Amino acid sequence: MSYKITLIEGDGIGPSIVQAAVRVIEATGVKIQWEKQYAGEDVMDKTGTPLPEETLDSIKKNKIGFKGPLTTPIGKGFRSVNVQIRQRLKLFANLRPAFSFKGVPGAYDDIDLVIIRENTEGLYCGVDYWVDEDQTAGISQNIITRKGSERIVRFAFEYAKNKGRKKVTAVHKANILKCSSGLFLRVAGEIAKDYPNIQFEDRIVDNMAMQLVKRPQEYDVIVATNLFGDILSDLCAGLVGGLGLTPSGNIGDSIAVFEPVHGSAPKYKGQNKANPCATILSGALMLDYLGEKEASKKIFQAVASVIKKGKAVTYDLKQDRNDSSAVGTQEVADAIVKEIRSIK
Ligand code: NAP
Repeated sequence: MSYKITLIEGDGIGPSIVQAAVRVIEATGVKIQWEKQYAGEDVMDKTGTPLPEETLDSIKKNKIGFKGPLTTPIGKGFRSVNVQIRQRLKLFANLRPAFSFKGVPGAYDDIDLVIIRENTEGLYCGVDYWVDEDQTAGISQNIITRKGSERIVRFAFEYAKNKGRKKVTAVHKANILKCSSGLFLRVAGEIAKDYPNIQFEDRIVDNMAMQLVKRPQEYDVIVATNLFGDILSDLCAGLVGGLGLTPSGNIGDSIAVFEPVHGSAPKYKGQNKANPCATILSGALMLDYLGEKEASKKIFQAVASVIKKGKAVTYDLKQDRNDSSAVGTQEVADAIVKEIRSIK
């Protein structure tokens, strides 16, 4: 079987880490025809839009996309292309696993959790405007719906059931945001009743941040609204060794787009310095989603082995980030490809 997959290299470090990931994915032997499309800063300069319709049409047609990070101007300029892709393709669930790899300095070595973040509403819904012409006050609305809450919480429980996970924790701020977060929590409690074999609990988001830093091993599947899920998943990335290690998938009813959790890290653009593992592992999540379980496992196994050996790792996985024995993006990919070829 051969898959046609839309490929967006992205901005900043995107082209380099995506190239590394494509090499690793292809080394598994899964047949893929990549359909290259464009989005982000560069295409904005060339075409006047950061998200050409052609790019969206390609993902809609292929039903699957693989992308690098895209830059969003801060405090001005065009709306996040990432958010637009998620909203326009109804990719309502953002799957963000965080797991420990042996050999990563300063990180917990026993974390295995998954954050499932609502991806289309909440504070990222796009209702964001100035109150006055002088821009002295701004409003961003946090719209949470029953429908959106039901589908993300059900997704989290179905994920837990299918992956043999034991517990779902709903994260909220229902003590203060009684309508928006309160609705999300109420719906989570209702859906939980359909899954008596999976433990259900809830945590207020600020406490959750502290609990995750102190006892991350106690968490399994965490379901959260958009902003809380975004922040907590970066926190979890820090717990396992950094953003260079955390993959993600944006999943809807029939379409999915896989990408690393991290952004375009523009300061490392063109330096062959960034860790490609988050993007490579996003490729493994994509293969798992496509049903290519063996190929997916091979990538996880090869990444874990290369990190454990500690020779072919980037600066971020060294005790001292200036350690001159750190290798570059493509050298990490070379080592992972070699490792995959050695797995029987
Ligand atoms: P970022 O690009 O994720 O980078 C933040 C820091 O994380 C980097 O300075 C680096 O830390 C570390 N990091 C990120 N990727 C890494 C990798 N592959 N290997 C090693 N370290 C890595 O976040 P940002 O600087 O806040 O955002 C930059 C741009 O990316 C913004 O325009 C933002 O909107 C966009 N963004 C896009 C996405 C997406 O496309 N899905 C997601 C998030 C952000 P050190 O400085 O310690 O080396």
